Amino acid sequence: MAIIGAILGDISGSQYEFARPEDLNWKKCRLFTEHCRFTDDTVMTLAAKSAVINHIPFADSYRMFGRKYRRAGYGGMFRTWLDHDEQEAYHSFGNGSAMRCSYIGEHFNTEQEIIEWATKSADCTHNHPEGIKGAVVTAMCIYMARTGASKSEIYDYVKTQYPKESYPYSVVYKLDAYRDKYSWDVTCQGSVPVAVECFLESEDYESFLRNVYSLSCDMDTLCAIGGGIAEEFYHGTGFDAEQLLKKYLDNYLYEMVIK
Ligand SMILES: [Mg+2]
Repeated sequence: MAIIGAILGDISGSQYEFARPEDLNWKKCRLFTEHCRFTDDTVMTLAAKSAVINHIPFADSYRMFGRKYRRAGYGGMFRTWLDHDEQEAYHSFGNGSAMRCSYIGEHFNTEQEIIEWATKSADCTHNHPEGIKGAVVTAMCIYMARTGASKSEIYDYVKTQYPKESYPYSVVYKLDAYRDKYSWDVTCQGSVPVAVECFLESEDYESFLRNVYSLSCDMDTLCAIGGGIAEEFYHGTGFDAEQLLKKYLDNYLYEMVIK
């Protein structure tokens, strides 16, 4: 289930979201520690799932979950939107639209539905074309991984969506190059292709997380975006997901995961 990959990614990456040590031993360090917690990525992922399964508008579900978990770590514009029912979408292309759409990639069964629902999930806040694209590409990669696409097919798809001629970050660059030149970036176009590259250069879910750890980045969110793809591609995380989810989530969120 992609949402489990996304949520465990968020929890793992949270420990270095704001303070990644320069000399982090990313190949060996512990991935789940007492410094980990769930953040906005998890809350909004489950809000998106609740919107789909309970047939309620995404905006209503995001506001309901967001108000229940106020201190999960939202960005400033999202917080303002959360607090004002009348507030309309604010043309965002932040990576928030990509981090919350894993259930869509996991649940729907045609490319058309994936595109339609990922667009809907983004549109009420992230209605900039890049905000929509971030959600669509993430959900499509999850769908492709889930339905047996190869890494080279996923590579080709993402390369087409983020061509290196028009975007600073692309899957045509290797992580070694990113380790030198990448800097903290919370846009969709600065996050999605990089998270996908972390997946493409991984051998399993754990090595995907470690690839994200190797970059100085918005770590919980890159782990969440690529975590859904990696979980589906490798058929699981290799961790005791149930035990970790019970440890880090409260009962309400845990029940929403397994619903
Ligand atoms: Mg977060």
